[in-house]
Amino acid sequence: MTGGAGFLGSHLCEQLLRRGVGVICLDNFLTGAPANIAPLLGEPRFRLIKCDVTDFVHVPGPVDLVLHLASAASPADYLRLPIETLKVGGLGTLHALGLAREKGARFVLASTSEVYGDPQQHPQSEGYWGNVNPVGPRSVYDEAKRYAEALTTAYRMSRRMDTAIARIFNTYGPRMRPDDGRAIPTFICQALAGEPLSVTGDGSQTRSVCYVDDTIQGILALAESDIPGPVNIGAPLELSVAELAKTVIELSGLPGSIRHIERPVDDPQMRCPDTTLAQELLGWEPRVPLRDGLARTIAWFRSQLATAPRTDPLPTHPYPGGSA
Ligand code: NAD
Repeated sequence: MTGGAGFLGSHLCEQLLRRGVGVICLDNFLTGAPANIAPLLGEPRFRLIKCDVTDFVHVPGPVDLVLHLASAASPADYLRLPIETLKVGGLGTLHALGLAREKGARFVLASTSEVYGDPQQHPQSEGYWGNVNPVGPRSVYDEAKRYAEALTTAYRMSRRMDTAIARIFNTYGPRMRPDDGRAIPTFICQALAGEPLSVTGDGSQTRSVCYVDDTIQGILALAESDIPGPVNIGAPLELSVAELAKTVIELSGLPGSIRHIERPVDDPQMRCPDTTLAQELLGWEPRVPLRDGLARTIAWFRSQLATAPRTDPLPTHPYPGGSA
């Protein structure tokens, strides 16, 4: 797995190990954290290779499945790491595909709902081609993933490789970074610190958020199938960013308020997956209700803040349009 020390990657590593699968994690800790995988280092079936997958990818021994997750994913990260993000989507994907080809392994690309850009079709089904600004600030991520999808498809068609594309929608849960700029960790940390929640624009733009355990099950269902995709993996429950903020305040059990700040450039107005394909082909649908998932995430952040009090200032500008 590339990107195995990140938010989704570390949960995936854990889940695979729980299923008895040996995991080799390739990560350069650009946006992931050693702490995410520290508990796995003692596992005999887990191995960490610290490397930048844009340089090269080498793994000794047999490999059945390559899960390619390496990429900055939060808008705060990819806006500060534009070239790295384009490189990992391009060169990183090329190298990960090369590894899968060499080993005769199935290849699964962690793509994103951001390939739909600011969508003109709602909800977004896999047949929709998207509405992406190729020179906007978010293009470094959106276009890198679109290129990665094209590369994956080209290897499938011209090299007869077994590949799959998961279009992952906004996911939240434990191990998100408090400062990664995504809406949910930002709202939770602000609520727990007794600060007003910074909602961008009037907050009427919509998002659909999926609890991490559900996303992981969806990715694994795709990996275990022979479906090429792309397949949307996300929760079809749509709510406005303002509603999301209010729910976080309510579940935090603390008095909270909202302040409105400017919306980021090219922030999508609406986002909701059509998950018919995942239901029909993979028998997968999200199960964790929003309030349960948020409560678990708030409890996790609370425990983190209790053990390591934060000294850095809270992010003031969340990017709720990003990948969660
Ligand atoms: P993350 O930033 O927590 O994890 C990404 C991991 O990739 C990090 O551990 C980072 O260090 C590693 N990485 C980045 N560049 C690398 C390189 N050149 N070489 C080796 N490792 C590198 O992000 P995440 O939220 O866990 O996302 C994981 C994947 O899922 C990404 O590809 C992302 O685009 C996709 N995705 C995530 C979401 C979401 O809601 N979290 C939504 C859609 C798609």
